[in-house]
Amino acid sequence: MENVIIVGGGCAGLTAAIYTARASLSPLVIEGTQPGGQLTLTTSVENFPGFPHGIEGPDLTQRMHAQADRFGARFEYGVLEDFEAFDRIQRVKVDGTWRESRALIIASGASARWLGLEQEEQLIGHGLTSCATCDGAFYKDVPVTVIGGGDSACEEALFLTRFCSTIYLVHRRDTLRASCIMAKRTLTHPKIQPVWNSTVQRYLLDASGMMRAICVRNTISGAQRELKVKCVFIAIGHTPNTAPFNSKLELDKAGYIVLKRGTQTSLPGVFAAGDVVDSIYRQAITAAGQGCSAAMDAERWLAAT
Ligand code: NAP
Repeated sequence: MENVIIVGGGCAGLTAAIYTARASLSPLVIEGTQPGGQLTLTTSVENFPGFPHGIEGPDLTQRMHAQADRFGARFEYGVLEDFEAFDRIQRVKVDGTWRESRALIIASGASARWLGLEQEEQLIGHGLTSCATCDGAFYKDVPVTVIGGGDSACEEALFLTRFCSTIYLVHRRDTLRASCIMAKRTLTHPKIQPVWNSTVQRYLLDASGMMRAICVRNTISGAQRELKVKCVFIAIGHTPNTAPFNSKLELDKAGYIVLKRGTQTSLPGVFAAGDVVDSIYRQAITAAGQGCSAAMDAERWLAAT
């Protein structure tokens, strides 16, 4: 029986690990398929306080990991498959094995959304991706597309300017959702060409099944045109990773975990933090802050029960 299991090794989970480890609770952190969370897919993080010149996302999470490790947090890789709650016992099934704890902190984050077009699954890794940091360097001196109009889309597009010849930024409206500073940087970059009021109709493949172009439709005129691109980077937001908690914890319509008091979920002893609960702010610093709150809430719960 563990004192506390933390599901997720991103900003929220790692901060919860630092705090619970420093409270001598010897937390067990279950890191999913993406240890370090979404920050590992990002480049320079310029808005995390304490780093006036920015810090690379993977570097930031590695530092948090080392900090939690230093105070005695334990880490295991595994995918959460199921969850059960009993009176004062939480059970999580990880890669086929049930683990028990007195308190549970869910920080399982969120995953990239896809457009849902035909052939999408087979194209992932063959000219379709959600991670410029991971795949951008493969597309040197060729045109590519980024889909979306938020900070992620701008960040992806700006990062891709290091490699690609042209970056078409395809957005379904004619104004970006991104913050002013990101939007300005993006729209003034000579390699980035916005394609406004446009949605992707289909992916066009070459004979070997690789991306060769996309067909985009103008939402106002209805006109369709082909954009010849070697890779499509999807950056249209995220879906919370809450499948194992469905019908066991209260979730909102979009699938985010609903918090009741502080970071406590609809079940006592089960706490949640970060992108799995937050559909509004979704920042590294807010996830870290909430991870700290969840650790303190869990610690108080354990002391009181
Ligand atoms: P987001 O802000 O939700 O933006 C998603 C974008 O994708 C929107 O422009 C949206 O269009 C578009 N979109 C959504 N569904 C679509 C669909 N089915 N087809 C076509 N387009 C679609 O998501 P995000 O950019 O991932 O950002 C999430 C949060 O992380 C935000 O709070 C953001 O500020 C933060 N973030 C910050 C940084 C940074 O500070 N450096 C970097 C990345 C992310 P509409 O605009 O029409 O809705």
